[in-house]
Amino acid sequence: MTTGDKTACILCFTLALIVFQTNLYGAEEKPEQSLPVYSLSVSFDLKSNLLRGRAAITVPKAADMTVSSGNLRIISVTLNGLSVEYRTKDNLFKVTGTGILEITYEGTFRGEPGSNENIENAGMVSAGMVSEGGISLNGGWYPAINGLAYYKLTALVPNNFIAVSEADEIDARDTASGKEYSFVFPHLLTGIDFVAGNYREVKDTVDGIGVYAYFFPADVSLAANYIEHTKKYLRMYNELFVPYPYKRFSVVENIPPTGLSMPTFTLLGRDIVRLPFILETSLGHEITHQWFGNYVYADFKKGNWLEAVTSYLSDHLYEELKGKGWEYRKNILINFQSYVTPDKDFPLRDFTERTGFASMAIGYGKGAMLFHMLENLVGRDIFYRSLRRLIEDNKFKQASWADVETSFEQESGKDLGWFFTQWLNRKGVPSFEVRYPGALILKGITTASFEFVQKGEPYRVELPAKVITEKGEVKQVLALEKERQYFDIAAKENPTDLIFDDNYDIMRTLADNEFPPVIARLLGDEKKIIVYPEKEMEKYAGLLAIFKGEGFSAKEQLEVNDKDIQSSSLLILGSESPVLKRLFGAAGERSTGFLLIVRNNPLNTSKVVAYAHGNSKEEVDLAVDKIFHYGKYSVLRFEKGENVAKEISKSDRGMVFNLQAPVEGVEPDKSLKLDEIIDAVSEKPIVLIGERHTNYEDHKVEFAVIAGLFKKGKKIAIGMEMFQRPFQKAIDEYLVGTIDEREFLRKTEYFKRWGYDYNNYREIIEFAKAKGIPLVALNQRSEIVDTVAKGGLDALTQEERKELPQEMDMSDELYKERLREVYEDHPDHIPFENFYQSQIIWDETMAHSAARLLEERPDHHIVVLAGVEHIMYGSGIPNRVHRLTGRDYVTIINGTFDRDVGTYVLFPKSLNPPFTAKLGVIIRESAGMVQVTDFSPDSVALKSGLNKGDMITSVDGWKIQTVSDIKIALFDKEPGQTVNVKVIRKRFLLGSRELEFNLSL
Ligand SMILES: [Zn+2]
Repeated sequence: MTTGDKTACILCFTLALIVFQTNLYGAEEKPEQSLPVYSLSVSFDLKSNLLRGRAAITVPKAADMTVSSGNLRIISVTLNGLSVEYRTKDNLFKVTGTGILEITYEGTFRGEPGSNENIENAGMVSAGMVSEGGISLNGGWYPAINGLAYYKLTALVPNNFIAVSEADEIDARDTASGKEYSFVFPHLLTGIDFVAGNYREVKDTVDGIGVYAYFFPADVSLAANYIEHTKKYLRMYNELFVPYPYKRFSVVENIPPTGLSMPTFTLLGRDIVRLPFILETSLGHEITHQWFGNYVYADFKKGNWLEAVTSYLSDHLYEELKGKGWEYRKNILINFQSYVTPDKDFPLRDFTERTGFASMAIGYGKGAMLFHMLENLVGRDIFYRSLRRLIEDNKFKQASWADVETSFEQESGKDLGWFFTQWLNRKGVPSFEVRYPGALILKGITTASFEFVQKGEPYRVELPAKVITEKGEVKQVLALEKERQYFDIAAKENPTDLIFDDNYDIMRTLADNEFPPVIARLLGDEKKIIVYPEKEMEKYAGLLAIFKGEGFSAKEQLEVNDKDIQSSSLLILGSESPVLKRLFGAAGERSTGFLLIVRNNPLNTSKVVAYAHGNSKEEVDLAVDKIFHYGKYSVLRFEKGENVAKEISKSDRGMVFNLQAPVEGVEPDKSLKLDEIIDAVSEKPIVLIGERHTNYEDHKVEFAVIAGLFKKGKKIAIGMEMFQRPFQKAIDEYLVGTIDEREFLRKTEYFKRWGYDYNNYREIIEFAKAKGIPLVALNQRSEIVDTVAKGGLDALTQEERKELPQEMDMSDELYKERLREVYEDHPDHIPFENFYQSQIIWDETMAHSAARLLEERPDHHIVVLAGVEHIMYGSGIPNRVHRLTGRDYVTIINGTFDRDVGTYVLFPKSLNPPFTAKLGVIIRESAGMVQVTDFSPDSVALKSGLNKGDMITSVDGWKIQTVSDIKIALFDKEPGQTVNVKVIRKRFLLGSRELEFNLSL
């Protein structure tokens, strides 16, 4: 079966088995005399789920024969008519002698699931069923013997039943007690299977083969379509491989949800035959197994290569014929990378049967990729010739990977030992890194150059590369075999992009940009948490139970901490989850039915965050186990358990490297005057101006915009990054005149918390005060930002957490990348994730403050003043205010230009800032005292007689306790003004003395 999508629900498992080369009834061939002939007759009591059986086994050699009784009740055992003493141990007993061994027995089959059945392994049904609805028996329904035997089966079933078993010929006759079937299959087998039910038979022929469909009356309308598709597949594979080896083939509807293939028939579960896509996928897969599995057999102990070749020649081939082979192969890579965590990895050679998603990604997925790479290596023609040779040389035999290798080597004349060794014996897949991708002109020839690096022991791989140029593309296959290899590819025109393996021809690790957030990544993660809301427990109880069974740990939404989010993939339940609001800044989307959305985890891009919301308990319960069949999707919606929408997030096709972005320019002659810009922005409710804090001209621009809007009669408010929220009261007091300017600066802790020259902002604040314009402190308290930067969100106390914005959107990937560049320029040894989160808290707080103002004063326009990096590209504050208010914004960016950097970009001419007086002292602040430690060049303090060690106590009557106090005392002084400075000077042996100086500024 396939590795992704819904078809995964029915994965096949070739039960058949092992048969030998001769034909029991063939003219020239004689039966193998030394092997047992097993004659079995069975009858049923359907009401009590009972099977009654009698086995007669000819034992040709005097050797111990081990019989497995399983869960059967053995009634009698005789050898040549004489009762045999036997002792059962571990459901096995031994019989010694030759002749005819007869066993009578009973078994009860209620169709209960066995231990091998789980949600990851749908289709692996181990329970037998004997019921009035039908009979389905695969293994464990007769005393089993080891090794190969010829089987003859007779079965007595109700008259209205039709029975199917491995058979080239079937005979049925009515008797007084029911219909008696006998099945003839002239080849050796390791065991047989049996199904019967109130089937309707539909038949046809193709290429001389009898084609049958056995469906229950309710589904008989499907039969014609199954017959048509079966004929199509048999014709196709008769051409592609060698002619089908049996006289008949049947598609049989089964009650348990199986997808099984055994010689001459396939058993497809009732729920499965009704799925429309089975005709295009699983049916062909099971028919392919008639050659690979039921004609050539595998010795499972030496590795199961059958699923690899079958998946490649069915599920993959059908997609390839539609031109979508690359998507199928990419999905194999996605599944491998999602499910095959290091603890679940094993070499392909060790695959025997699937036990879950990981083993399937190896045995089916990586296996199919092996055959794809093999086809590319030897060419299509030789590939199919080799397959035919493989079948011819191994029909009715057990073949292993070694036989596959032999057939391909003989047909291609190539030594392929290295290829099979590399792909079969190693765990994992190649990982490539491309370094130094670039476009150079060497000796006048334009070339694209790059280095390929393989991590770990290098693989030998032929990797397709493409150089995209301005007018076309140049293709080249790179022969990779070393740890590091450097390449130059000549191109006629200017190369713009390099793309590697965009058809997914190589089994490899996907680059980050190729790996979309999909459900498989959530299910496959080693660390995964399901986050639930206590108050909606009942609605999600069924989902929680199933996901916990799949290895998720569960946490109540209020108990999830930062470390959980950074280290795990999450499934968040309920649209109002605080975890959702803290990562994506908004409540989850809701829709009718059940919705599941998978995104990248903003705090750890190797993980995903999924969000699920159900409208009712019923909707959740109907959808929940279906999710597991949709591993390749990012978005799913179900209504009453029916999938109504599915979507895969966009990701790169191939490993893509952009070599040069087109250079763009603007025409400055067509520029706008600031007045025109003010006119243009005057109707927008939110105007954000990005400033360079130390550039006075930027502050003049801010003033001009504010004054311009005011002059137009707009009701405006000003939001300032420069003030922190807890100090709003002091701002308000100053604006109404309750406190003076110095008190305002002291109470808002302006110089401690912001620190930039106050004269840069003074005109704006004075204008607001004079005109009654509200002024809003936007910023977060710096202690919160610092704590998060150092220790992450978990470092905050419960009280501090209350100061965080309610909603935070951490998912702006481009912003994250720009912040990473900033971070890398900082030598601070804090983890990037903490730095990133502290920046988002900062931006979100400012956005929330602005949004709150607009909520309180809906008729106002807000002008936001903040550092240019908080406004560029709409990333820091603008998108967030828009998200919170739904209102339009414009941005005005100072001093930096790029496409999309802002709505308007200004380049104000440099201006000298207003005079700000300085004493020219270097100061140490401790315990409420300010001490002079040194002087700067041309220091007025030094000239006036201050000494190192002096404690400054007041400046112009303003008491000095902190460095900020000195700045508060001086900011409004004018050049040439005299200030009075008092200091305490310690004298040797003489104690302290207060001195007074008058300094001319
Ligand atoms: Zn299969």
